[in-house]
Amino acid sequence: MSIQFGPEYVRAIAPYQGGKPIAEVAREFNLDEAKIIKLASNENPLGMPESAKLAMQAAVADIGRYPDSNGFELKAAITAKYDVPAEWITLGNGSNDILELATHAFVQPGQAAMYSEYSFLVYALATQAVGARAIVVSAKDFGHDLPAMLAAVTDDTRLIFIANPNNPTGTFIPAAELEAFLQAVPPQIVVVLDEAYNEYLPPECQYESIAWVRQYPNLLVSRTMSKAYGLAGLRIGFGIAQPAITDLLNRIRQPFNVNSLAQAAAVAALNDKPFLQKSAEVNAAGYLQLTAAFDALKLIYVPSFGNFVMVKVGEDDGAGARVNLALLKQGIIVRPVGNYGLPQWLRITIGLPHENAAFIAALKSLLG
Ligand SMILES: *Cc1c(COP(=O)(O)O)cnc(C)c1O
Repeated sequence: MSIQFGPEYVRAIAPYQGGKPIAEVAREFNLDEAKIIKLASNENPLGMPESAKLAMQAAVADIGRYPDSNGFELKAAITAKYDVPAEWITLGNGSNDILELATHAFVQPGQAAMYSEYSFLVYALATQAVGARAIVVSAKDFGHDLPAMLAAVTDDTRLIFIANPNNPTGTFIPAAELEAFLQAVPPQIVVVLDEAYNEYLPPECQYESIAWVRQYPNLLVSRTMSKAYGLAGLRIGFGIAQPAITDLLNRIRQPFNVNSLAQAAAVAALNDKPFLQKSAEVNAAGYLQLTAAFDALKLIYVPSFGNFVMVKVGEDDGAGARVNLALLKQGIIVRPVGNYGLPQWLRITIGLPHENAAFIAALKSLLG
């Protein structure tokens, strides 16, 4: 018998399945890379902001040196934008880093972390990686059921993940419900409020989660530069929490977890209001384009507050995989969500108008 390395809880982890890279689909299906359309990873279809590109190019000159381990300039930019002290900020190699740091810092093997059914898969991975028990609370209308989550809290629950808006379903929890939840959660439990899609919220949905950080010492707000800011490839995100949380995260992170190009680009992107505005506009228009097509095809979708839409492409449990494969053959990459327990659905990232149109045409030819 061969030797088995590592603890059982590590061996039990199912690897994360990301959106298929364009080059991989080109190889597998013998397609021209330039013609492939990727609507699979909730990336910004505009790419990176020009301001960030210039800042990154300037930073290349210093790449022989280690990055600033404390991210002074980036924290200053975050401080200026969100009016929080630098001591309340943790920089992450993507916000995935923040989510993982949180489980390492606050949950021991055997204790519990909680998240909703159909919420971001990284919560499950991060929980398993530290040998913690997962409390998975059934979703309500594809989103978080906060009262049920409160009722499911156990003595050994140490961490609760909430994604708002949620990925992959796109659901949104209104501010008043979230705040009532924060008030009711036992104060020794850390709540990670993952706001990866916050910048896409329409004005009437926006709320001040950073103000809640001042009020709730157990709240950790997580933000990313990968989505609306267009910097997914650089891997940069950040957490905002009071020092009792932030100190611990900073003690266990790698000293140089955020590279210098990412830091420079993030400073520029954070201050690039026109780019953020344009991203939101492109997204809102693309949402209407996709959902109008779904309506015309009489397909059910979950109304989304992010930069993606989840659509039901059939009634049988093979539907998502089947339609996904047929789309791949036409050079269109979307995200099947069977691994989330949603095998009849696909998650479509909102793209540029011509990308959305190509996807719609392909979907029509398959289902129309
Ligand atoms: C995309 C996403 C993230 C961001 O991941 P990064 O590591 O910052 O690229 C975090 N949470 C959710 C819910 C997401 O969908």
